[in-house]
Amino acid sequence: MRCAVLRTMPGEDALAPLSHTLCHFGCWFVSRQSDFEKLSVQNTKRILAIHQSMHDAIRSICADVLAGRPGQSANLDVFEQAQSELIGLLAWFKTKFLANAVRHDHLTGLPLRYGLEEEFIQLQKVCKRNKSLIYLAMIDVDHFKRINDNHGHSVGDIALSHLAGTLKSNIRPGEPLYRFGGEEFLLLMQTQFHEEAVLAAERLINVVRSAPALIPPSKPLAMTVTMGLSLVGEDEELRSVVERADRALYEGKSAGRDRYVFASVCT
Ligand code: GH3
Ligand code: MG
Ligand code: MG
Repeated sequence: MRCAVLRTMPGEDALAPLSHTLCHFGCWFVSRQSDFEKLSVQNTKRILAIHQSMHDAIRSICADVLAGRPGQSANLDVFEQAQSELIGLLAWFKTKFLANAVRHDHLTGLPLRYGLEEEFIQLQKVCKRNKSLIYLAMIDVDHFKRINDNHGHSVGDIALSHLAGTLKSNIRPGEPLYRFGGEEFLLLMQTQFHEEAVLAAERLINVVRSAPALIPPSKPLAMTVTMGLSLVGEDEELRSVVERADRALYEGKSAGRDRYVFASVCT
């Protein structure tokens, strides 16, 4: 615009053959490309392509103007269409980023319970079809208040985030793990046999115990969790399974913590 109206010389971010990699938007977008790709690889590629086509069109227009010729309307059409598509795609990403942000916990990166009900129903359908079992586990950090009281809330935050990471890296990939509440997590496990769920529960309890949070200058901060587990009935509602797992959890707390307890009946 400045080149056409004021005849000022555009910079490299308009004239260079790779100008789309030099402009502010291009540099910013490439530095965040992986965040965009997590939401849609296809739309990320499309943004890269149309942004480049905007630069190509602008470069041609500038070349004409600087040579004293009028620009070509085809180039202006390409630019305007690409710009409008780019704005639409960025708005789409903005909505996705915001929706994602409210559904995820900032501290641990884990999903919050918003999508739990839906995921639970889907998993129930899958497991009904392939005849596998679902176990729901409520996992609560033991004496977490003491960590806050003794070390401060910000150390408590780091410890909680560390613990979430330990849990996340010791479950099967794709297994739904939610931050259910303050220092409470909810895990859905798909298994073939009851023994698999027992082994998984035992492993998680042990791995948390043996992976203290290292937060200098404090000494390694040991943590344990108590887990209440319940087998999910074929058509059972989430609320009722959560209640049963919760009762098992409190049994585990009363029995001394740092352990797992299976709810005895599936109603
Ligand atoms: P119990 O073994 O019976 O579960 O004892 P507890 O101390 O873990 O349980 P209680 O419910 O008394 O305390 C939970 C504490 O967790 C209180 C709350 O301030 C703390 N908490 C919850 N969410 C967070 C958080 O995001 N960051 C920090 N630092 N603390 C949190
Ligand atoms: Mg607790
Ligand atoms: Mg709790």
